[in-house]
Amino acid sequence: DPSISPRVNAVKPSKTVAISDLATSLVQAGVPVIRLAAGEPDFDTPAPIAEAGINAIREGYTRYTPNAGTMELRQAICHKLKEENGINYTPDQVVVSNGAKQSLAQAVLAVCSPGDEVIIPAPFWVSYPEMARLADATPVILPTSISDNFLLDPKLLESKITERSRLLILCSPSNPTGSVYPKGLLEKIAQIVAKHPRLLVLSDEIYEHIIYAPTIHTSFASLPGMWDRTLTVNGFSKAFAMTGWRLGYIAGPKHFIAACGKIQSQFTSGASSIAQKAAVAALGLGYAGGEAVSTMVKAFRERRDFLVKSFREIDGVKISEPQGAFYLFIDFSFYYGREAEGFGKIEDSESLCRYLLDVGQVALVPGSAFGDDTCIRISYAESLTTLQAAVERIKKALIPLS
Ligand code: PLP
Repeated sequence: DPSISPRVNAVKPSKTVAISDLATSLVQAGVPVIRLAAGEPDFDTPAPIAEAGINAIREGYTRYTPNAGTMELRQAICHKLKEENGINYTPDQVVVSNGAKQSLAQAVLAVCSPGDEVIIPAPFWVSYPEMARLADATPVILPTSISDNFLLDPKLLESKITERSRLLILCSPSNPTGSVYPKGLLEKIAQIVAKHPRLLVLSDEIYEHIIYAPTIHTSFASLPGMWDRTLTVNGFSKAFAMTGWRLGYIAGPKHFIAACGKIQSQFTSGASSIAQKAAVAALGLGYAGGEAVSTMVKAFRERRDFLVKSFREIDGVKISEPQGAFYLFIDFSFYYGREAEGFGKIEDSESLCRYLLDVGQVALVPGSAFGDDTCIRISYAESLTTLQAAVERIKKALIPLS
């Protein structure tokens, strides 16, 4: 479209948002679709957090806050990052934004020059390559494989670094795969990063708390020599079931964070005062979110166990058991090339998802959206009963294809 800027023309709209919206409109039209496409916890925001937001409104705490976020919240974030992640930041090294998505976008815009390369392991969260394009940078996609639990091979990374490499985006626990980077692998990546002084790491740790013991989370910035090479992003949406409150943050060396803050000051200003009060309460729940969060993680784990077991019973399907987040990224490529009567040929992840939506009435996201067409993403942020029904529908829908 020539009436739109070429920069925006180059960007793809978010497929996960599009499919979630389609599934929602089908439900509103009376089609009983089971929605497993969205990346949103099915839980309500824990009561003490919600109460803090309500109190903020009652007490008239409803005005603009400082651009970078309230001092109270930034201090609480610094305390959290020190205690839970072993990284030291001061409040002037933190910017609070309207969701981690904004924190990530601002970071990419702040550090990338036109023509810079942004290294993104695939499968990736849908927004990373598009954020790079919006910054006139070039996404460099590095594939991983299900047999390596979708973890980046350090040798591949090393072979793809050029003098234009500016940013490596890591996401652990990962959306869409649920994989968690072990500390040893992060250390190998850190050794490579150390050799390339222009390369920074944008570490998206938003699923940090949704992790299944004994697996543990390592913050990239906590590794030796990596503090001043890392921008750490986290937020409240996932662990605290606060997607609608829109609150995330970035922490890192001051000059990068100040640049992120400058962009924010011209785009949106400080995040919601009410949400920031709620976020202080969230961080006050105790280590890793205390019982409120561990209860949700326990439910996620039960669902993961159920789904992994159920899908392993299906012919031809390949799964790497995820250790975090609330997604399964399942290899369904066994079914590609098969014919379904009245539907036609299943060509790829997109047509299989369309088939499962039409015939099975289950909404899932094709792996192609995440840079891996062999797989389909299932979000298990839904009750066990709903997931049981979804598995039955998927199994039934696949029968004519076997
Ligand atoms: N990063 C990843 C990997 C995500 O999956 C999401 C949400 O879907 C976000 C960041 C953004 O979260 P929010 O903007 O709600 O804080």
